[in-house]
Amino acid sequence: MGHWHFHGADLEDESMKAIDPRVLRRLISYVTPYRARFLAGMVMMLVATAAGLAGPWLVRTAVDDFIVPGDSAGLVWIASAYAGLYLLSWLANYWRELLIAQVGQSVIFDLRRDLFAHLQKLSFRFFDGVPAGVLISRVINDVGAVQELVSGGVLNIITDVLTLGGIVILMLTMHWKLALISFATMPLLYLVANGFRVRAGRAYRKVRTQIANIAANLQESISGVRVTQSFAREETNLVRFDRTNQENLQANMEAVSVFSVFVPIVEFVSSLGTGLVLWFGGRFYGLGAVEAGVIVAFMLYVGRFFGPIRDLTMVYNEMQAANAACEKIFQIMDTEPEVVDRPGAAALGVVRGDVSYQDVSFAYQDEQYVLQDVDLDIPAGARFALVGPTGAGKSTMINLLARFYEPAKGAILIDGIDTREVTTRSLRRNMGIVLQDTFLFSGTIKDNIRYGRPEAADEEVMEAARTVMAHDFIMRFPEGYQTDVRERGGKLSVGQRQLIAFARALLADPRILILDEATSSVDAYTEVLIQRALENLLRGRTSVIIAHRLSTIRNADQIIVMDQGRIVERGKHDELLARGGLYSHLYEMQFRAQEAEAV
Ligand code: ADP
Repeated sequence: MGHWHFHGADLEDESMKAIDPRVLRRLISYVTPYRARFLAGMVMMLVATAAGLAGPWLVRTAVDDFIVPGDSAGLVWIASAYAGLYLLSWLANYWRELLIAQVGQSVIFDLRRDLFAHLQKLSFRFFDGVPAGVLISRVINDVGAVQELVSGGVLNIITDVLTLGGIVILMLTMHWKLALISFATMPLLYLVANGFRVRAGRAYRKVRTQIANIAANLQESISGVRVTQSFAREETNLVRFDRTNQENLQANMEAVSVFSVFVPIVEFVSSLGTGLVLWFGGRFYGLGAVEAGVIVAFMLYVGRFFGPIRDLTMVYNEMQAANAACEKIFQIMDTEPEVVDRPGAAALGVVRGDVSYQDVSFAYQDEQYVLQDVDLDIPAGARFALVGPTGAGKSTMINLLARFYEPAKGAILIDGIDTREVTTRSLRRNMGIVLQDTFLFSGTIKDNIRYGRPEAADEEVMEAARTVMAHDFIMRFPEGYQTDVRERGGKLSVGQRQLIAFARALLADPRILILDEATSSVDAYTEVLIQRALENLLRGRTSVIIAHRLSTIRNADQIIVMDQGRIVERGKHDELLARGGLYSHLYEMQFRAQEAEAV
């Protein structure tokens, strides 16, 4: 299991491969379900290309076979044929666009769904290593780049090659000498297109980087707006944003100027081609070596050189970008979750709730152990409080119990069963987890309470809320249980969010409760409310609590004192105080004040 590290330069370092065959094969597997539509789109593309090539040919026939001989009756047919051709090409292009775009969108839909499903499965360790913003960008931007490849890239190459090849062959068959003379502009056009590709590529890469910078700046500014305002840093932020925004403007200006230089150059070179045809065509005509219609057709064909040449030079850049995006997406999809069910893992039924850490060691990174040889037995129904200085390993203890990570050595047993031998799902169904920073999802209070048991009836939701003292404040909202809590519960106070989290845990009725007590202070009334709610929540369950409240510690059956990844003391409050070790020290610093308040 490799660690997943994010490099800031990710956005820039597009690998040099145009397209990796393995990436392509995998992409094709996403297109396969829509192959009928994709093939129909390709047929339409062929029809459209053929119709486009036939236009000048018809014009030549019109001139040479009808206009010059003065056959105006036949001209009606040829004019109708021309109109028909135009209609055919329009229809074929319409269907091509539609079908291929539909395939592209379907592929994106599937890819996003797979990526999201996989992201949800990945273990905590993965998220430790990658910023959320980067993952969001994978799901939104990189997946978009893949669509380009599916609906643009490959098909455009085919169209361009066919168009260019078709023009060359038609011109050669019409008049090979004049054709060779007209092809003289092709190398020039290629040079122009290539110059454009290099400069535009550079400019757009800059634009993309700047856009990413703006997004990052914005994301940080918005999430941090409360801190910004409380320190009155708005001006400084604006200056910083201005700088990024200015750089973006400059990058875009560069891109625009590249365009504005190249469009006239292309027109100039194209008109050079037309001039060549006119000049040499006119002389051949004077010698009776060419018909007028051929000259007209040539003039039309010469104007069509540049499009395909430009696309063919550009397509390499596009493919490279899309390939890089695909690689990033597949890299995530190929990251195996650290915590996976063993083959044949059994489902854990409803447990009694004996918890046992046996000789557990654990490191987040390499050999830096944050837990060392921890042995701890918690009998069913007991309440254990974890205390210790910051960084002692308390959160790590509960992360391992919930199997968010797996121990490097030793094992964690529940009712004597190794947690690695059962399915994660059945394991977590036996556990309620209430973390310090209560995360509420956008939606109603009711939905948030039933998060772990969506099928719970309204009465059950209310019963749970009553038990943890949340019912009264919920009913004080005009919309009661239907109150929308907004993103992250922005509308509720810290204490209220806690009570809702308690109700959520209670409703799921787990045998084992994991609680990381909130440190944030609440008013005295809420404090009492939370204490009582907690009593009701914990009753009859095994509980492991990272305790911050004196009352919680006092009511614990056993206090586990941790320091630097080891258990250094264990016992009841009074015993530990009498011993005069780390606990009594912590007590002096952390809890004494609370005692004074409570008195
Ligand atoms: P506590 O909860 O007692 O404050 P933790 O269990 O959170 O302690 O942390 C124990 C040690 O592990 C600390 O040194 C901390 O820096 C480290 N640590 C915690 N979480 C991670 C993580 N996700 N990745 C790497 N190191 C971590």
